[in-house]
Amino acid sequence: MKPIPFNKPFIIGRELSLIADAVAQGHLSGDGKYTKLCNRWFEDKLGCLKALLTHSCTGALEMAAILCDIQPGDEVILPSYTFVSTANAFVLRGVIPVFVDIRPDTLNLDENLIEAAITSRTRVIVPVHYAGVPCEMDRIMEIAERHNLLVVEDAAQALLSTYKGRALGTIGHFGCLSFHETKNIISGEGGALLINDERFTERAEVIREKGTNRSQFFRGEVDKYTWVDIGSSYLPSELVSAFLYAQLERADEIINKRRNICTAYTKQLATLSADLRIANFDEDSNGHMYYLILDSLTTRSQLITHLKAQFIHPVFHYVPLHSSPAGRRYGRTGSSMKITDDLSERLLRLPVYYEMSAEEIARICDAIRVFFISNRNLA
Ligand SMILES: *Cc1c(COP(=O)(O)O)cnc(C)c1O
Repeated sequence: MKPIPFNKPFIIGRELSLIADAVAQGHLSGDGKYTKLCNRWFEDKLGCLKALLTHSCTGALEMAAILCDIQPGDEVILPSYTFVSTANAFVLRGVIPVFVDIRPDTLNLDENLIEAAITSRTRVIVPVHYAGVPCEMDRIMEIAERHNLLVVEDAAQALLSTYKGRALGTIGHFGCLSFHETKNIISGEGGALLINDERFTERAEVIREKGTNRSQFFRGEVDKYTWVDIGSSYLPSELVSAFLYAQLERADEIINKRRNICTAYTKQLATLSADLRIANFDEDSNGHMYYLILDSLTTRSQLITHLKAQFIHPVFHYVPLHSSPAGRRYGRTGSSMKITDDLSERLLRLPVYYEMSAEEIARICDAIRVFFISNRNLA
């Protein structure tokens, strides 16, 4: 039997010919033709004030943390059920991550728990759009405004998802995207910082260019370039940007394909609604992920074993950050972690990738049905 991996990096069309063109341009470092084309694509398509390509979403989050200008000992509110970079970007600045529980329906930061976690040291809220499903942004922005906080959207999984018609990543002061090979649109490693507030655009360019005013210099706005601020190297090479641009050209197609895969799972697993909870996505989200919530950790382990025996590779997800060694050392909880602790043990992600066939989806769904039907017969 042919193995079905969890994820499979793909090429959709012009990736290699655009890389060849980038080489022919004779400019392989950052901010050449393709980086600019990608930045403009995000600005036009998503409607953000300014987009800056980075080498990763981790890099974009680090830039956002610097731009928030927070001091050691200040606090940032974020979910515990997220990737380490959401917290690390701030911990690198000496900031304390305060973890708040998630909503049971979307697994996103529970907006109703945020205010109780705010202290006099809170400066930033970081909503993570898990699985590309939007957080309650109206409520989060309203809380942020009332308490004078900044909002950094971790939209790593959320490219082309929307919230009330607005692209995710364009609602907070900053949005951070990822093009890691496990995301919808890929460039191997890659990311972007979306800046939605003009107070931050100039400094963002400087931080991304090693703390220099090189971007202004190239635009002819200053006559020499020099060290003006803290910063690091957050630019991707033109080779990466060229690959990414080839995927952006066909982004809608990629997203539709993934949405269709998710819809097929939902249809084929509908008869198991008594045995498991299937992900409930709507047309606002980008088909990034398809997950199941099982009734217990034991069932999840048994189902993984059952599927692996048939060369199907599902995976669970985050170890909640508040219970990880570094999370305990650097952060603290700002609410009960009841939902996070419970759901993180029962969630299982099914394979979703661009080249997935209808036969592969059917094989996975059949295997899951067999598992539950034989379990019922044993009971
Ligand atoms: C993938 C991911 C990141 C990190 O993205 P990189 O591009 O690999 O740095 C951060 N946050 C979330 C929620 C992610 O899913």
